[in-house]
Amino acid sequence: MNLHNTPNDNQLSQKIKLEEMQLLYGGTPFSYTASVIIAFIIYNVLLGHAASETNLNIWLTAILAVLLIRSIESYRFSKISEQQQLESGWRTRFFIGTGIAGLCWGLLPWLGYSSEIEYLSFIIVCLVGVIAGSLATLSYRWEAQALFLLPSSLLLVLRLAIDEQNFSNATAFVLLVFILFSSISSTRIFNNTQQNIRLRLEADSREHAIGLMHQKQALHLQNTPLAIIEFDLDLNISEWNTSAEKFFGYTRDEALNENVLRLILPRDSSADAEKLWQRLLNYEAVIGTVIENKTKSGSPIFCEWFVTPLTDIKNNIVGIAAMALDITEKKHIELAIIKSKEEAEKANQAKSDFLSSMSHELRTPLNAILGFTQLLKYEKTLTEKQQSHISEISSAGNLLLELVNQILDLARIEKGHLQLSMEEVNLSTVFKECRSMISPLAGKNNLSLDMNSEIDGYVIADYTRLKQVLLNLLSNAIKYNVENGSVRLKVSQMKKDIVRICIIDTGNGISEELLKEIFQPFNRLNAACNIEGTGIGLSISKQLVEMMKGKICVTSKLNTGSEFCIELPGKLNVASGIEQENKPTLPKTVINENIASKHTILVAEDNPTNQALILNQLEVLGYSADIAKDGQEALNKMSQNDYQLLLTDCNMPLLDGYELTKAVREKGNSDLPIIALTADAFPDKKADCLNAGMSDLITKPVDLKTLKQTLKKYLK
Ligand code: ADP
Repeated sequence: MNLHNTPNDNQLSQKIKLEEMQLLYGGTPFSYTASVIIAFIIYNVLLGHAASETNLNIWLTAILAVLLIRSIESYRFSKISEQQQLESGWRTRFFIGTGIAGLCWGLLPWLGYSSEIEYLSFIIVCLVGVIAGSLATLSYRWEAQALFLLPSSLLLVLRLAIDEQNFSNATAFVLLVFILFSSISSTRIFNNTQQNIRLRLEADSREHAIGLMHQKQALHLQNTPLAIIEFDLDLNISEWNTSAEKFFGYTRDEALNENVLRLILPRDSSADAEKLWQRLLNYEAVIGTVIENKTKSGSPIFCEWFVTPLTDIKNNIVGIAAMALDITEKKHIELAIIKSKEEAEKANQAKSDFLSSMSHELRTPLNAILGFTQLLKYEKTLTEKQQSHISEISSAGNLLLELVNQILDLARIEKGHLQLSMEEVNLSTVFKECRSMISPLAGKNNLSLDMNSEIDGYVIADYTRLKQVLLNLLSNAIKYNVENGSVRLKVSQMKKDIVRICIIDTGNGISEELLKEIFQPFNRLNAACNIEGTGIGLSISKQLVEMMKGKICVTSKLNTGSEFCIELPGKLNVASGIEQENKPTLPKTVINENIASKHTILVAEDNPTNQALILNQLEVLGYSADIAKDGQEALNKMSQNDYQLLLTDCNMPLLDGYELTKAVREKGNSDLPIIALTADAFPDKKADCLNAGMSDLITKPVDLKTLKQTLKKYLK
């Protein structure tokens, strides 16, 4: 029930007041007409019997005058608005009129007095009748009733009381009793009338509110964008609004009394509908369930349903109320998004595959270039000029390798494949290593390198990746510096266990405009084209630092220099107690350590250049080796000879490295160390190799030192 439409107390009392006024004034045409008729009858009866004819005439004139004035008043009242009817003047005038009328009727026994007993009795009867009649028309307000009753009856009683006849005194007494009872019953009538008016008005306004509510509901039902459908337990539709007509194509008349399932549910959705039905019968509301429905034309639409069981007062389910929203368009968009996401994932996968194969394709020739260059460096017969050419080839090859590695890093980060191994990294160790790697470059560029590596403290990071970031920042500080400039490393403790490492250079600086783009991949800003670079280093550094839960920032001033800082969780002035393992320092020599050449190694490699390279590398390291050009040939050779180790390329014709490993292991040879040689640098490659039964993996281009260490590890 909409209680907002029920009147408050003030409104109600105003309404009651108006009702009272209308009832009082509304009764006047009848009572005035009756009064005129009665007055004339009384006059005619008393004429000739009244003590004074003049007095009788005066009475008639007075009463007619009062009735005339009051009739005019009543007429005026009937013509005005309710608002005006509520004005207090009308009430006051009515009360005054009633009092005067009561007085006039009370004067009848005085002005129309007759000494003849039957006429006096006639007067008494008439007055008692008039007074009784007034109860019906005036009891809506006790004041009106009192103002009429008192003068009319008391004047009569008084007149009878002063009359000498016994009959009159007795009648006066009876009249007093009558007046008393009349007053009491008139008070009761007044109270009941008040109560009735109040109840009726309240009921009226409630009815009005309910009517309004129904009207609103009907409007909502028809105008809501939701399809509203109600059906009974036999699934026969009892309500079908405009939106339902729009969604499903059936008019209300077509849908009413039809089976809801047959009308809007395709056959293959009936299992879903059955489940839904069971939930509803368990008094469960179904909210937001998406069902594929069908329209009148048979085309499918997707609707989101909100369904509740309808119950009677005993809580028995008597029907179902269902609301539906047509989400076909949304569903199509969703499907399109899923499709395009799948396509994007496929494209991304294709990109990764491309990068992986590109890495393989580039690393294979690079393997040869760098490998042979490295071997040539140990050739004693070369002239100085030839040595210098070899150095050029080596540095160009290394740059190309760096580019390939950076692109692969970027791809790995994008794919979320880059795994970090977070640990307490001793700052002194990592700084020392960076300094030893970077100082030749600083020396070459005539720069002073102020890098105090004696720092107690640690940061939480991945050792290798932190070194990669620091080397990138240091090499940039050197590359983009000026002649005789300087590079300085500054380390400080920030609040909350954060260590800030800054690399400050005295280069040309970067403009504010370009600074905004500095971390974008492949953006070399306005770097001079004679400075080698790829434009990816900073982008990778930023992502690496963020993956290590740190921050990287840069400030720069044109013609003054730049300051690149990284912040990582950690502490200064504490010895970490952790000596980083595997901090490789380049061996003075990797060759001629006279490793027992009794070990015979089988190499499975299909590429002739790589075959020649690995044989040479193994020879330099003091090993003797056999070559097989694919997996099948390797298997054959192994059945004829006894090898201590197998080095195998992964991608080969006939039998690839994985299949070869499986075949070897299946033959029961579980102890033979099998090392993969692969140009594919993705981390899942290592997992693939180990899963296939291999012992380890070396990434091409094969570095002599790595090769030596790995062989040493497996050939004891
Ligand atoms: P790269 O150095 O290989 O070009 P980076 O991603 O490391 O790639 O750097 C992107 C660009 O930012 C550089 O090409 C250079 O223009 C600018 N830059 C980086 N570090 C500095 C620096 N210390 N001073 C001036 N410019 C720098």
